[in-house]
Amino acid sequence: MRALITDPTSDKFVERLRGFGVDVDYRPGIPREELLKIVGGYEILVFRSRTKVDQELIDRGERLKILARYGVGLDNVAVDYAIKRGITIVNAPNAPSRSAAELTIGLMLALARRIPLLDKEVKAGKWPKGKYMGVELYGKTLGVIGFGRIGRLVAQYARSLGMNVITSDVIDVSKEAEKIGARQVGFEQLLRESDAISVHVTLNPSTYRMLDDARLSLVKDNAMLINTSRGEVIDADALLKHIDRLWGAALDVLPEEPPKSEKLLRLISHEKVIVTPHIGSETAEAYERLAEELAVNIQEAIKRL
Ligand code: NAD
Repeated sequence: MRALITDPTSDKFVERLRGFGVDVDYRPGIPREELLKIVGGYEILVFRSRTKVDQELIDRGERLKILARYGVGLDNVAVDYAIKRGITIVNAPNAPSRSAAELTIGLMLALARRIPLLDKEVKAGKWPKGKYMGVELYGKTLGVIGFGRIGRLVAQYARSLGMNVITSDVIDVSKEAEKIGARQVGFEQLLRESDAISVHVTLNPSTYRMLDDARLSLVKDNAMLINTSRGEVIDADALLKHIDRLWGAALDVLPEEPPKSEKLLRLISHEKVIVTPHIGSETAEAYERLAEELAVNIQEAIKRL
């Protein structure tokens, strides 16, 4: 088996692949033209978000049997086409969950106490003590939209902070929610009742701009909104319209990354908005877990061939 790695991965991952007999070519950053020329010689392609694994690339990869996304999202992969060609797709969906959940809690606390704003002012020589009164999270209601891997962890952490947790999902998660003292409710009820709302859905047609103007109108004044899922889930223009009456919003993901459009730039530079550059998975531990999880999934896929 020959594997081509087209984006940066850890050395340990490369060693793991070689360890189970795969002949690995490590070519991070390989230009598209060159990739198209050589992909035909490999059974396994390992890539991150930079490499567009579209129909053209798959067609050139005549021997391809396994597409391995070094991460979670498959937005850059022609999934249906690959499946039609009988290619197995593997990724590492569990690896970043804890890191993304911890970031979510960090962002919620940063919003509650306006930490980035205070940090900026003190560094600029000011002493804004008494200028921004914070809020506690204890006793507040957190609405978790999407009770999957990350949503569940966020709910658990929030429970340990003394928050009440409600959740909405398209599937019945009521039993799992009850186990950690949370409660499943309808989407609109969640929007109406939450003091903080955290979004953890996958991007799909039902979640694209699920928080639009009409939905955001249901959210309480002074509620906070955290999004570490996918930027397209929130209609950024609508959020800009509502931001003044909300407590604030913390966004690790944006509909345009990096942001360029004038309205999006206005939103992220708003005093009540905290923004981070899609760093949910960026911890040493998540990267370590990712290498391990993906190597195991590739090994299993090879066995099934
Ligand atoms: P998951 O698949 O485990 O959970 C997603 C949940 O959303 C599922 O329970 C699903 O039923 C639910 N859902 C789908 N459509 C819904 C809808 N319309 N309404 C309510 N619920 C709905 O996913 P996960 O691993 O928990 O990841 C959650 C999100 O976080 C994904 O969008 C993922 O891409 C993103 N993510 C971001 C980062 C980052 O760097 N910020 C890192 C990892 C994951």
